[in-house]
Amino acid sequence: MSGLLDGKLALVTGAGRGIGFATALAFARNGARVLLNGRSVERAAEAAKLICETVPGADVRPLVFDVTDSGAVKLAFSEVHKEYQGLDILVNNAGVLKDALVGMASEQMFQEVMGVNLSGTFKCAQFAARLMARAGSGSIINISSIVGRYGNAGQSVYAASKAGVIGLTLSLAKELAPANVRVNAIAPGFIETDMIASVPEEKRRAIIDGIKMGKMGTAEDVANAAIFLGSELSSYVTGQVLGVDGGMTI
Ligand code: NDP
Repeated sequence: MSGLLDGKLALVTGAGRGIGFATALAFARNGARVLLNGRSVERAAEAAKLICETVPGADVRPLVFDVTDSGAVKLAFSEVHKEYQGLDILVNNAGVLKDALVGMASEQMFQEVMGVNLSGTFKCAQFAARLMARAGSGSIINISSIVGRYGNAGQSVYAASKAGVIGLTLSLAKELAPANVRVNAIAPGFIETDMIASVPEEKRRAIIDGIKMGKMGTAEDVANAAIFLGSELSSYVTGQVLGVDGGMTI
């Protein structure tokens, strides 16, 4: 196997489906060893099996933990340290989407969305940063969203979590650059996955009408950006927010 990520060890959170799965698969195709995180043992094992069937010789392993569980995150990263003595790429992809007009957003919803999208991202980045800084290299890729940059009515909580991810990315990029650890974000637009499956057809059409390229993106479109940010192709790129949105924001 040979590719842009040959020999690198990557951890992708929320890798059981959608953008996370596509990223794990694309990484494996490019020669990376991939740790597939998920909350469910079955889903993570199924994802690993699917990748091994698609990419002969792929080195992928499930790593089950919930990103909101601090103890479980700590334990998972100490296992990674013990087993591999380091980590080259972290893709903070796990996320949840909950929409509500501001007057209807509950405290519980706020805690849930912030817990996964922002705290989960922070915790994983914190442990990865330690491993990477010690090794003097690494790439952290945080999946944000266009709404984290531009906002959206009915998505104040989700947008705040994704804007937080951008602030985290920029700060970590400054803090970790001297250790040769790069930190970037990807801001996907409207990507065809389970996350947007419940968007009604009429609303879907209206959103697509606002995309300059006239179509939704695929999980693979986002995965390709992650390959760039994880590989040496982006060795002088840090603190950036890369839009993958078909021109939705121009
Ligand atoms: P999906 O809903 O298809 O997948 C979300 C993934 O996150 C699942 O694998 C899910 O696991 C995992 N996850 C959720 N909560 C946790 C948790 N507590 N611990 C570990 N894993 C968890 O969504 P997408 O693939 O579309 O989204 C991936 C990322 O991209 C998200 O951060 C999302 O916000 C972002 N994004 C997506 C856009 C889109 O249009 N689709 C646009 C902009 C950003 P499980 O299977 O167990 O639920």
